[in-house]
Amino acid sequence: PHVVCQPCFDCKYTDCVVVCPVECFYEGDKMLYIHPDECIDCEACVPECPVEAIFHEDNVPEEWTSYVEMNAEKAPDC
Ligand code: SF4
Repeated sequence: PHVVCQPCFDCKYTDCVVVCPVECFYEGDKMLYIHPDECIDCEACVPECPVEAIFHEDNVPEEWTSYVEMNAEKAPDC
């Protein structure tokens, strides 16, 4: 699945949400999360993100690897 990382924090855009064909974005207090069981890796959201916060889980920059688990934990609770 794809993962939302730190640049999303306090971002007010939801351009990614509207293009997702399976509606797997969930809105937390401060950022969006992708539900890993629902994302189909279509990549439609990646170029829409104005802050380049979305990565495939295999390509998450090292400093943000904790976001893989964070998306998995938080998305179902939103
Ligand atoms: Fe949705 Fe596709 Fe982005 Fe996954 S990769 S969150 S399915 S738009």
